[in-house]
Formats: sequence, structure tokens, C-alpha cells
Amino acid sequence: MTVSESGMTNDNDWDLATLAVRSGQTRSQFGEHSEALYLTSSYVFDSAAHAAARFSGAEDGMVYARFSNPTVSMMQERLAVLEGAEKCVATASGMSAILSTAMALLKAGDHVVAARSIFGATQQLFGTILARFGIETTFVTGTAPEGFQAAMQPSTRMLFIETPSNPLTEVFDIAALADIAHAHQAKLVVDNCFCSPILQRPLTLGADLVIHSATKYLDGQGRVLGGAVCGPKVLTEEVFKFLRTAGPTLSPFNAWIILKGLETLPLRMAAHSANALELAKRLEAHPKVTRVFYPGLPSHPQHALAMRQQTTGGGILSFEIEGEREAAWCVVDHCKLLSITANLGDTKTTLTHPASTTHSRITPEARASTGITEGLLRIAVGLESVNDLEADLMRGLSLL
Ligand SMILES: *Cc1c(COP(=O)(O)O)cnc(C)c1O
Repeated sequence: MTVSESGMTNDNDWDLATLAVRSGQTRSQFGEHSEALYLTSSYVFDSAAHAAARFSGAEDGMVYARFSNPTVSMMQERLAVLEGAEKCVATASGMSAILSTAMALLKAGDHVVAARSIFGATQQLFGTILARFGIETTFVTGTAPEGFQAAMQPSTRMLFIETPSNPLTEVFDIAALADIAHAHQAKLVVDNCFCSPILQRPLTLGADLVIHSATKYLDGQGRVLGGAVCGPKVLTEEVFKFLRTAGPTLSPFNAWIILKGLETLPLRMAAHSANALELAKRLEAHPKVTRVFYPGLPSHPQHALAMRQQTTGGGILSFEIEGEREAAWCVVDHCKLLSITANLGDTKTTLTHPASTTHSRITPEARASTGITEGLLRIAVGLESVNDLEADLMRGLSLL
């Protein structure tokens, strides 16, 4: 298999399911069938001239594990192919992917426009840490492209979104926001964590870079931390330069876990989505549930947009029940199967009360204005039987 400039396969039209299993592998002299895990921090050269050629970049190849490892390369190649990206740079975590992207694209005096509903640590990074280095961020509430348009300044260099959002599953129009960014010489960066490349490929919709927390669906089994930045080589090369120097590098072991996780990603995303849709329908029919937020439901206000840019609704839903915190905690505390944890993208279903956990540091007024009420619960639907998941939630719901 060869990979073209666009990152897609040239000499055959393999489907994503095949690419997930087969792409990116290089075999050693031993002909191993499964991808090898290379645990080495450095590499030996044949001669002084050989070492010099590797260090200068005149010859491609491994140099030092802060920025080169064959297992990490295989993982990067496989994810690049799935995202339809020319290149992928793997990082130690999703947050280090975001930091490395910011360090690559921004400098003091630059301005960022970001959605208000992005991951909490990403908000902190832009709002407090980068602010200390003279990079200012405007956070936009809501999904309307007009809101982003209004926030753009002459110095805006990056527009940052996550779609669907957490926990309310708001859907952002990637193509419309790419147009706004490009009209201002800014880059659109999309955190594609919730969908993975199986359900949504932002680069094909005009995004400049895609971010992943590989900790979530790409591993998919809650084992390791990892991250990635995918896009055209001109941009990922800048990310790579930061990583090479600063060292937020993905470990070979974690790369190997993620590489193997990618093989089952198409199957898992289909199963997560099917389970989530069925659970969303059943919750929507429950008398104590006032609202269900799930892009795959026709009742979702942006269902049409979601179905245009995603293949299915994904694995994450939230729902609002009648009553306040007490009622929500009653549902949580009666669960015996669902794990009470804020993680997501795992085979095991997780349940969170955002108002008292992931979104507890926001003022109650700000929370209310973004729609995260005391009665809201978020579920990252796993691969268990949907009947068992429903029965577990009914323990508490039936007491309300
Ligand atoms: C978890 C998460 C991150 C951060 O990833 P880590 O691997 O935990 O650093 C970023 N974005 C989203 C949407 C996430 O869910």
C-alpha cells in the first residue's frame, strides 16, 4: 500500500474497516504478523557519516526516541490514513496534542477564538496558561457561526472547536467555521475526540488540523494516555518541531496499545453508536426524563447537521431528569453496573453528574447559561447489553 499526498491509499480503494486493520504496518526482518513493540531510547549508526546524515535529516530514519520510534511511526501512519491526513504527530496525551498545536501555530500577540463548551483543561490552557504568554482567547457561547464571526479579530490565528460538545452534544458546523477561519487567515482546529475518524473526518470538511485524545475511543479500553495531531505536512511539521524540542512524546508502549486499538475502532464505534441510540430512545420515552441530548435522535435541534457531517450519533448522550441534584444523585447512586467516572470512550459505560464534577468549578450562573442543569446526567455508552444498561438506570429513576 502506498500513501498519496492526501494520505489516502493510492493503489486500492480499501474501506476504513480494512485500513484500520492493515494500514501503517512495517515489518522487521523477522516478518512478525502483529506489529512489533520497539522499546529502545536510542539507535545505533553504521559510521560517523551515517550518524551525521540521520541527525541532519539528510537520511530518513530513527534518531532518538524523543522524536522517533518505529512503533510510534506505525500508529501515526495508521491514524493519518483513517483521518485522511497527510501526516500525524503522536503526543503523550490529548492535552499535549493541544498544547503542541498552540505552540506550533501561535505567538505572543495572537488571538484565539474557541467554543465555550470545549474540554475543561483546554479552556484552562487557553484561558489562563497561554494568556500569561500574551495569547488572548475569546470564548464563544453557542454554536451559531455568527457568534464566531463576531469574535474574530485581525490578530486571530486559530479557531478551536469540539463537535459534538460535552455534555450537551451541541453540533458545530465544521464547513461554515472553516470558511470563517480562512477568511481571517486563521486555522480551524477540531478536537475530534467524540467521533473519531470513523464517524467524522473534519479535514474533508475544511478543518486545518484534527486533534485527538487517543486516551478515549482510539485506545477504547481505558488503558493508556495518548494524543495526536493530524493534518497537512506543512502544519504537522511545525507541531513536530515543538515536540522534538520540548518532548511531550508518546511512549512506544502506549503507541502499540493505540495501534492495536485502532484495529477494532470501526466495529467499536458502530456498536457504541447503536447502543447509545437505543438507550437515548428508551430514555426519551421515560416519564421522569424531561430531555435527552443525542445528535442521532430526530428530536435533537441539530440532527440534520449532525447527520450531514457525522455517519452516526456517536457513543455519548446526556439527559435531564425532573428535579434537582438530589434526584440526579439518586440515579447515580443506585447504579450497580455503570461506572461513576468522568472518563469516556471505554468499552465500559460511564456515568457522570457534570454540575458536581467536570463542570463544578464554573459558577452556578455560568453553568445555567450554558444549559448544564442540576438534573443533567451524562453517559458515555459502552459495549454492554443495552437492556442491562437501561435496567441499571431504572433502579434510581423508578424511585423518583
Ligand atoms: C479527554 C479529552 C481531552 C484531553 O485528553 P487527555 O488524553 O486526557 O490529555 C481533550 N479533549 C477532549 C474532548 C477530551 O475528552
